[in-house]
Amino acid sequence: MSMLERVNSLKETECIVDVLLKELAVNECKRCGKCVFGYEGLTQLEMILGDITEKKGRSDDLALMQDLCEVMKEQSLCEAGEDIADAVLAAIEKYRGVFEEHIGKKGCRAGVCKKFMTYHILADKCIGCGDCLDACEDDAILGKKKFVHVIVQDECVQCGRCKEACDEDAIVLAGAVKPRCPRKPVPCKAR
Ligand code: SF4
Ligand code: SF4
Repeated sequence: MSMLERVNSLKETECIVDVLLKELAVNECKRCGKCVFGYEGLTQLEMILGDITEKKGRSDDLALMQDLCEVMKEQSLCEAGEDIADAVLAAIEKYRGVFEEHIGKKGCRAGVCKKFMTYHILADKCIGCGDCLDACEDDAILGKKKFVHVIVQDECVQCGRCKEACDEDAIVLAGAVKPRCPRKPVPCKAR
């Protein structure tokens, strides 16, 4: 399947940014390197897309990729570079909103990009033991004994230590759909 066909057959459970990155990683241009515009263009696209999945996207990333693709189409020595450019341009046109959500740090709607996954404590399972709070080295958890604990998303670095520490399976990792959780510690109802 060509890269363009892959873009056009994207499933709801897939993220276009992630799919493009995976396609570029195995693209023949990466192994060839005979022309600057194919090889360097691919490398630049990988850097920009990688930053977007890592929550480091910038407002001008889409325009930058479009400019890069136009040059790749014109200057690559063979069709491989052109095919990459066509696929990326089609992806931007078709999934602009998805790119913008990543760049604006709003999230990954498919729940694929790990940096956009978040940890949450389920109120109906938390017994307020405090083990997660002790495990968190970033002071990202609020709570006290017998109160439902709460993760402060701005402080959380997604290390996962709290989830490992919780024997009640009260901590979940969420992608596109986030569970409803209290914003501050409230008395436990579990047990
Ligand atoms: S989330 Fe788990 S580890 Fe943390 S207080 Fe609740 S039950 Fe204990
Ligand atoms: S994932 Fe890591 S940083 Fe985030 S609340 Fe849990 S222990 Fe703290």
